[in-house]
Amino acid sequence: MSKYVYNFGAGTADGDGTMKDTLGGKGSGLAEMSRAGVPVPPGFTIITDVCNVFFDNNNTVPQEVDDQIWEALALLEDRMGMKLGDPANPLLLSVRSGAKFSMPGMMNTILNLGLNDETTEGLAAKTGNVRFAYDSYRRFIQMFGEVAMKIDMEHFDAVFDAQKHKAKVKSDTDLSADDLKVIVAEYKKIVKKHAKRDFPQDCREQLIMSRNAVFDSWWAPKANYYRKMEKISDRLGTACNIQAMVFGNMGDGCCTGVGFTRDPGSGEKVFYGEFLVNAQGEDVVSGIRTPQPISELKDWNAGVYNQLREITSMLEKHYKDMQDFEFTVQEGTLFMLQTRNGKRTGPAAVRVAVEMCEEKLIDEKTAVLRVAPAQLDQLLHPVFDPASLKALVKLATGIDASPGAAVGRLAFTSDDAVEMSEKSPVILIRKETTPDDIHGMDAAKGILTAVGGKSSHAAVVARGMGVPCVVGCGAISINERAKSATVKAGDKTITIKEGDWVSLDGTTGAVYQGQAATKEPDPNSPVFAKFMKMADKFRGEFGVRANADIPRDAKAARAFGAEGIGLCRTEHMFFAEDRLPHVQAMILTDNEKDRRKALAKLLPMQRKDFAGLFTAMDGFPVVIRTLDPPLHEFVPKREELMVDIAKLPSADIKTKKEMLARYRNFVKDVKGLKTVLPQLLHRVEQLHEFNPMLGHRGCRLGITYPEITEMQARAIFEAVVQVAKKGIKVIPEVMIPLIGGVEELDNQKKIVKAIADEVLGKAGLKKQKYLIGTMIEIPRAALTADEVAKEAQFFSFGTNDLTQTAMGLSRDDYTKFSKEYEEKKIFKADPFAVIDRNGVGKLINMAVELGRGTRPDLEVGICGEHGGDPSSVEFCYNVGMDYVSCSPYRVPIARLAAAQAAINKGASSAESSRTA
Ligand code: PEP
Ligand code: MG
Repeated sequence: MSKYVYNFGAGTADGDGTMKDTLGGKGSGLAEMSRAGVPVPPGFTIITDVCNVFFDNNNTVPQEVDDQIWEALALLEDRMGMKLGDPANPLLLSVRSGAKFSMPGMMNTILNLGLNDETTEGLAAKTGNVRFAYDSYRRFIQMFGEVAMKIDMEHFDAVFDAQKHKAKVKSDTDLSADDLKVIVAEYKKIVKKHAKRDFPQDCREQLIMSRNAVFDSWWAPKANYYRKMEKISDRLGTACNIQAMVFGNMGDGCCTGVGFTRDPGSGEKVFYGEFLVNAQGEDVVSGIRTPQPISELKDWNAGVYNQLREITSMLEKHYKDMQDFEFTVQEGTLFMLQTRNGKRTGPAAVRVAVEMCEEKLIDEKTAVLRVAPAQLDQLLHPVFDPASLKALVKLATGIDASPGAAVGRLAFTSDDAVEMSEKSPVILIRKETTPDDIHGMDAAKGILTAVGGKSSHAAVVARGMGVPCVVGCGAISINERAKSATVKAGDKTITIKEGDWVSLDGTTGAVYQGQAATKEPDPNSPVFAKFMKMADKFRGEFGVRANADIPRDAKAARAFGAEGIGLCRTEHMFFAEDRLPHVQAMILTDNEKDRRKALAKLLPMQRKDFAGLFTAMDGFPVVIRTLDPPLHEFVPKREELMVDIAKLPSADIKTKKEMLARYRNFVKDVKGLKTVLPQLLHRVEQLHEFNPMLGHRGCRLGITYPEITEMQARAIFEAVVQVAKKGIKVIPEVMIPLIGGVEELDNQKKIVKAIADEVLGKAGLKKQKYLIGTMIEIPRAALTADEVAKEAQFFSFGTNDLTQTAMGLSRDDYTKFSKEYEEKKIFKADPFAVIDRNGVGKLINMAVELGRGTRPDLEVGICGEHGGDPSSVEFCYNVGMDYVSCSPYRVPIARLAAAQAAINKGASSAESSRTA
């Protein structure tokens, strides 16, 4: 017979910590803690498979599952010396979800199960605390009503608030036992009215309904959204944990709290957390009351504090990772409710990994694998420029919940945040957030809440997302309806409204009115440097380069650890203010002589750019690509020209001046517009293409206008000479874009080689090494890579275009239907972000093999956007590329992703030559 239910408690357990797949994270943690002798309230776990069985069988489970549940309940009753539904000695239960991967707050929980009219009286008699009993009952009806009977929470809230009003009390805790009795009676009426049945008095029925509700919550919209965001499979299902209740709210000798063994924001090794006296678990995380820091637990009960520290240190050593724990103290006795590896910010992940390695708790490999590459983003986030803050009004200081600087316009609801984020950055401001805000939090650049502590929902979720967040900002009073808030700043009351700019600092908790300037982060912080050094040991010769077009970016790339430039898009140099007129002159002329004249003006400018790049790269290779984009990108838009020509005869002087400004590179004065604009349109019409992405671009430009390639080659090699003569090592690699076959490369290579040899020869630098290679971004180039490699000394995969052309999918238009494609799982991920391994990946694999078949020492890299995506980096590593190239800020992410790919393939640091 299959085992569906696993018991834990009393120092033993059927399962253990390795059984996350079966028992879920929470269930396996409880089993493991129980085995380790940690005081956990006993209970049992219904395994994750039952969740899938439940859905596959029309929301029912086979009888044997129920049989095992009742058997486990009997054991639990035995262990507790209490009985479910027994008025004389009622056993109360909690019912919680718990999937393999933590999905905080996304699924349902029911507490105080087992209360009914009779057992509530029994509980009151047993504890001598009528208020407590009825407060527990009303909480249960409310939770059960919402979760298991699908009754809107607002109905319960209305009754609760009305009673508070009637009793003239402000705080929930001021309601008397009689008030709570009234509330319970009213709640039962609500149930009857909305669920069309009585509130179930049969405690076993309560249990089955709660279990089903927990399973059901697997498909709650917020849970679906979270799984999609975190790439968690829908098929995993959740386990259901049923556990004896312990109470943190029986009086002032009770408390409940949450904590971490290290600071999840910074990673510092400090005991970190919060607790609330006389409260139930959800009071801490919901942010309804602001909790006390855990250091104060020592004053409250030193014995409990010491025991908690001992247990949690032991758990950290046991799991060899930072623990996120929940505990309850019931009348002086400590119970651990949960422990799991804690979610942490990027900076904390790095620090914890480095320090645990130094403490010899984990080895270097484990430390490197502990940080998700994308988490490094948070170490690379900008901070505020202190000078720019001086000009802003500081509105308030809240609790620093998730580090980083964020600037955006205020949105008061999550739906607004999503909508507004399409136009500008958004700061989501809420009294408190709930799991229903997940989409707004995802869309926001920063999150600000008025209540709650460091472990409130907003804080935990923002930290996980790496979004800067300030919580518990009590000075701000929010009117969500009016979409405005007021804040007392000094002696002034300031109103802030939807759309207003706000700057918030998640590292300090400060909130400012207006837009602060941000400053680039320091990629050289010692702990980060240590971590990256450790990671770099594993990837051997595999390189990480940057896509950079100007010396400033090249310098930034070096600071982030780039080992060369994998792509310089020369056209980006053409858009500069002082160059565009020459570029346009070159394009608009219809004869070679004038084109050469314009190119001659551009030559010294390009030479200077290239010299800057070579100097910044100081001996690392620099891949420079010849001109790639369709020429129409540099000239005025055809449709705009047509409209202006039509408007011109009746235009007033103001309109004409506006036109003059628009066409200033072509016309000197207003009078000239009449003759020049039609000529301009004529040439633009000649350049017009129906499908420019597949038209006259890439090497096709250099083939039709060889003088452009000539000029660029000359600029490159003259810069090589200039820099080499200063004693700086230069490794130039000239790259021809968008070839479909070797013939195109051959044509362009001849031009480049002739110029290179001429320029280097004249300078007496015949020995200067250089490479001429090509991009592989057209399927035909990949399919004929064996021939292409006869001429190409290197390949660089242009996966933006390769994805576009291989999939027949416009890189500019995909977003029009991307949402549907990804939601309906037609694409697993955006193929322009993550390499489509089955399709595009096959072409890459084939091209690498064919290319190396012809030329074993062929250098192979990638320069499409995928070069900075961790999963794609892993693919590139596995396919045997020599390097990836990505934007400067993603260089550390790519370095880490490559290290992890190497480790996962069995590399050890000793094999590496990169130990510096
Ligand atoms: C590419 O196509 O992947 C590439 C790097 O070139 P671009 O994005 O400039 O077309
Ligand atoms: Mg391209």
